[in-house]
Amino acid sequence: MVRHRHRIFDSRRLLLLLALLLTAGFLATSIISYQVSKRSILNAIVDQSLPLTSSNIYSEIQKDLVRPVLISSTMAHDTFLRNWVLHGEANVDEITHYLREVRTRYGAFSSFFVSERSGLYYTGKGILKRVSPKEPRDAWYYRIRSLPEDYEINVDPDMANKDALTIFINYRVYDFSGNYIGATGIGLTVDAVRQLIGEHQRRFNRTIYFVDATGKTVLFGNTSNQAGIDLRGNPGLGPLLDGILADEAGSYQYVGARGDTHILNVNYMPELKWYLFVEQDQEASLAGIRRTLLINIAISLLVTIVVVSLAHFALRGYQQRMEEMASTDKLTGLLNRHAFTILMDKLLADHRREPQRMSILLADIDHFKAINDHHGHLAGDNVLAAVAKRLQAGLRESDIIVRWGGEELLMLLRRCDLREARRIAEELRQRVQVTPFVANDKDVPVTISIGVTEYHGAEPPEQTVGRADSALYEAKAGGRNRVCVADTSATA
Ligand code: GH3
Ligand code: MG
Ligand code: MG
Repeated sequence: MVRHRHRIFDSRRLLLLLALLLTAGFLATSIISYQVSKRSILNAIVDQSLPLTSSNIYSEIQKDLVRPVLISSTMAHDTFLRNWVLHGEANVDEITHYLREVRTRYGAFSSFFVSERSGLYYTGKGILKRVSPKEPRDAWYYRIRSLPEDYEINVDPDMANKDALTIFINYRVYDFSGNYIGATGIGLTVDAVRQLIGEHQRRFNRTIYFVDATGKTVLFGNTSNQAGIDLRGNPGLGPLLDGILADEAGSYQYVGARGDTHILNVNYMPELKWYLFVEQDQEASLAGIRRTLLINIAISLLVTIVVVSLAHFALRGYQQRMEEMASTDKLTGLLNRHAFTILMDKLLADHRREPQRMSILLADIDHFKAINDHHGHLAGDNVLAAVAKRLQAGLRESDIIVRWGGEELLMLLRRCDLREARRIAEELRQRVQVTPFVANDKDVPVTISIGVTEYHGAEPPEQTVGRADSALYEAKAGGRNRVCVADTSATA
């Protein structure tokens, strides 16, 4: 028997839909959770961690500047220094010794005194020079001279130390009657500050640097010489710079040259007249959740593949079962045996409510194997289908014909007793015999044998069919091409 596979539903489309739904669902949840995490991470950076780092550094630097201010204040009020000036700056060795002493004791980078009366600039190494109002490099002294406050903190190249960038604490000195007599103080190398911010930079994985009022970088945490860069030339930061410098403090975001987003926190340090820039590369801080996103997507893909494969196997099983359960036989177009069993249950229920006579015919093509052998299996198929059609044409609308299996056809005749059934069976037998069938342009004479029996009410249908089968066997045994009626002795 040829099995004609046909699909009850298109499982490929179903699986594709399932895969799409799963993928879309998984992607949506992964991406949404990534976005939520991203937003909370960025918010935490902007609102908390960046300002915190910034104010930490700010206060530590401020603290580091307090001690030098105290030292400078002590120098400005030192009785020796003031007496030495008032006594006419006679012995240069004395002041040199004094300044050297201060410098080494406090670990300062340099120490100095500039006398208002003589204009001489003393350091721990002796007289450096005489300051002049015409010399631009001495402008700092003339600034202190007219300073309303007692001191200032200033960053300048140190003339006494090969112009090394130095933080100076410049203190005004007065005599005992309160007259201004000069400026003193110490200078600190920026290395200390640089170390401090370098440490913070490593600890918090941030970029930390100072910017002056003109928008030039002054000092970086790392020692690479990035100082002196004009930030106005930075494509992302440049346009924001005026706004940043105008504010005393704030948070900003800009896109860097490589397209990476930077989050920036700025604090103005009035002591230094510098802006403290603390910056974080957004991409770097999101690397962790990016990795999580990728892992999520990989897991989702895996789950999708597993689910779709499981569904595929389940559907294939279903498909097979449903094909088996499909009610019609593809070759003959008749009901199949399974459909008949279902139909039979309903018929028996009807019969119990309203008993009626029913008969069964079981027909089998004679020597069908020979037809297959002579004309080929395909021709055999066609003959079988044609026989089925011819038999169906000879039945009433209310009768049921079923492909029972192979080339066996079962017919259930309703409101039909055994006599009538035998008559119809004979008619059908002749119908098949009288005109040969055609296969491959050749006449194929076909005959059938039929077993006839009547349904006895109270018996299981298998028993009726079994009786018809016995009658069919009898017909075959009796020479074929004939109708045999089952033993009627059991008839009620
Ligand atoms: P007989 O019934 O007269 O005893 O002889 P037979 O040759 O018909 O023998 P039997 O009924 O036992 O065998 C039926 C044969 O029909 C066996 C099988 O090869 C063939 N057959 C069953 N189903 C199909 C089908 O769907 N198509 C074709 N072409 N052949 C079928
Ligand atoms: Mg046969
Ligand atoms: Mg057979």
